[in-house]
Amino acid sequence: MTSQYECQRCGACCRWPGQVKVSDAEIAAMAAHLGVGDGEFIERFTRLRPDRRGLMLLEKEDNECIFLDGVDCRVQAVKPRQCRTFPDEWNLLEHEEKCQAQKWLIPTDGS
Ligand code: SF4
Repeated sequence: MTSQYECQRCGACCRWPGQVKVSDAEIAAMAAHLGVGDGEFIERFTRLRPDRRGLMLLEKEDNECIFLDGVDCRVQAVKPRQCRTFPDEWNLLEHEEKCQAQKWLIPTDGS
């Protein structure tokens, strides 16, 4: 058995303290989606990661992601891989306390 999660749009992952790392390609996609240039996007919506190895999305004062609008993501169609894979590819045991995603168990042996 393996598990898969179906998002219930609670927005908890977008309020999770931490870093949303963004690649150059993800920046370009989000900038195009918002109709701004890459440079403007970087200036308005990102900052240097603490390890100085790349950029991350800005957060609001309450830790909420800069792109969270209620329970909607302003860049949903092109959101970063880190967001698209939450919580499937994460190793956060405590996520089930906050995340309301529906968990589905999937047989791996074809039965
Ligand atoms: S980019 Fe969208 S999905 Fe990712 S944390 Fe921000 S609001 Fe949530």
